[in-house]
Order: sequence, then C-alpha cells, then structure tokens
Amino acid sequence: MKKVLIIGSGPAGLTAAIYASRAALDVTLLAGTAWGGQLMLTTEVENYPGFKDGILGPELMMAIRGQAERFGTKIIDEPAIKVDFSAPPFKVATDTQTHEGDAVIIATGADTMWLGVTGEERLIGRGVSSCAPCDAFFFKEKKVIVVGGGDSAMEEALVLSKFATEVTIVHRRDAFRASKIMQEKVKSNPKIKIIWNTELTDIVGENKVEGVKLNNTQTKMVSEMAIDGVFVAIGHTPNTEIFKGQIDLDDKGYIKVIDHTLTNVEGVFVAGDVHDHHYRQAVTAAAFGCMAAMDAEKWLEGRS
Ligand code: NAP
Repeated sequence: MKKVLIIGSGPAGLTAAIYASRAALDVTLLAGTAWGGQLMLTTEVENYPGFKDGILGPELMMAIRGQAERFGTKIIDEPAIKVDFSAPPFKVATDTQTHEGDAVIIATGADTMWLGVTGEERLIGRGVSSCAPCDAFFFKEKKVIVVGGGDSAMEEALVLSKFATEVTIVHRRDAFRASKIMQEKVKSNPKIKIIWNTELTDIVGENKVEGVKLNNTQTKMVSEMAIDGVFVAIGHTPNTEIFKGQIDLDDKGYIKVIDHTLTNVEGVFVAGDVHDHHYRQAVTAAAFGCMAAMDAEKWLEGRS
C-alpha cells in the first residue's frame, strides 16, 4: 500500500483522509496539538450541508474524524514540527517520530488574527466572531461592530448589513486599505457607519457580548458602546511556518497552488485555508480535501 501523510485535522485534512483511506491507501494524519481546526471554536454551524437544524462545530468535527477512522486512517494527535520534501518518500517529523509518505497532503489551515483584547477569547461564539457568512444570521435586528479596514472587513460588514439593524466599522486609521470598489459599496450602504482612528480595547459581557470600549487614537478619548456582536476582520495567518524553504509560498505566506491542489513539489498536495484565502468555508475546505486526495491517488497510481 502506498503511504499518504496528511498534515492537519480540520475539514480539509479529515475529508482528504476519508477519500484517501477509501482509495485503499495507507493514511496517517498528523492532527496537531489542538485537533479539529477553526470549527472547534464555533458554536452552531448552520451552513454545512446535511444538517437541517444545524450542528455544533465540535460535534461536526467529531463526526468527520470518526468517519475517517472508520475507513482506517491512523490519527496521531501530535503537531508536525519539521518536513523534508527534497525527494520521496517525504519525511514529516513530530516530537516523537519521523513519518514517511509517498505523497503528502498539507491541510494545516489558517488562524484568524484576533485583537487580543480583554473579553475577546472568552466571548468567541457568544457574540465574538470572525465569520459573517457563518454567523450573521444570529444578529438579525441587532447591532454589531466590525473591526478592520481591509477587504475582509468590508465584506463582513456588507454581509452583516443584510441582517443587523446597524453595522459599525471601527478602524484604527483614517483610511481603509480595502479595494476602492468594496469601499464604495460600504460607504453607500445606509446601514453601515464608520468610526475612524479608533481602537477597540475591551469587549464587555458576562455570557454574551453586551458592549465594547473604544479608544480614539487622536483625541485619546475613551468611550463605551452597547453592542450585540463583534466581528474581527483584521486578517488571517496561514500555518506554513514549517514549510518555509521546502515549498513555494506566496508573499502572504499561503502555499502557492500550481494547478487545483498541486504544489511546486510533485507528490505534495494542498487543501483548504492554507492556500485558499478567498472562500475560507468548512464546506469548501472539505471539498479541497476531497480534490487533494483524488489528485494524490492519481499521482501515486502513475508512479506504481
Ligand atoms: P488585510 O488586507 O491585511 O487588512 C487587515 C486590516 O486589519 C487592515 O485594515 C489593518 O489596519 C487592520 N488591522 C490589522 N491588525 C490590526 C489590529 N491589531 N487592530 C486593528 N486593526 C488591525 O486583511 P484582509 O482584509 O483579511 O484581506 C487579506 C487579503 O485577502 C487581501 O489581499 C484582500 O484583498 C483579500 N480579500 C479579498 C476579498 C475580495 O476580493 N472580495 C475579500 C476578502 C479578502 P491597517 O490598514 O491600519 O494596517
């Protein structure tokens, strides 16, 4: 049996594992220290097909993990710390062992950049979010803040404006870095207000978001604002540190895709948010996982 190593245990990695295991490949998945990816930080998931009444993020991930294990995927709950892609068999090391694979699928995802302010971590999933397409629906008739000044922030605000009564973008400078067209859409939307030169310093609330503290960077005036939701859209960091020097990355550190799931190293494939900064959805990550496994299978067949 040909060996496939999968690095990452979000929807992309685990879906790749389901497909690769069902293709009679010998699959080992390195799940990382905190397995399951971003859905483990989510409460209700309502847009993943197949769950009419929604499903909790961790529950969905448990189900996908169980499905991969059912078909024989060996899951190791350790992070990959070093890779050697110079020639097959490719080597991926954890703290305890070095694994070898005839093919590798990278599915290490990307982490949301959070503000790091008081209350933020505690209230994630309770009014603090980084995904308007996932959570905007819960803010019908409510007031929300979006933090950031890039395309993501504009997009989050526009999605939220379809549900919330009022959307306020809080930006630390006096100009957005977002594309002109996105800025125009935001500025012409009557539901969206903008607060310039302002940093969010605290998120307040016991079990859900109730308000925020804001600091004007020019006047140094501190104010409080009652709010139901805070959407943080200040960027993402792809988890590619261990791949530097081993595989081509773009200028933002995402893995460069040559064609569909192929990277510049033959036999090393990529799936999910570690290369896709456009869609970033669980269902698209899962789809990329499927594609990467099928591409890996085909590549391995061509070599036997
Ligand atoms: P981004 O372009 O890097 O913008 C991040 C924004 O967050 C900036 O305005 C930045 O402020 C602000 N920020 C960063 N750290 C902060 C902090 N600690 N506190 C407060 N504000 C902070 O990231 P992005 O918007 O996620 O976009 C990433 C890439 O994806 C871009 O190339 C973008 O064009 C692309 N994208 C495209 C679309 C689309 O085309 N529809 C949608 C989403 C993303 P400063 O401006 O002051 O640095």
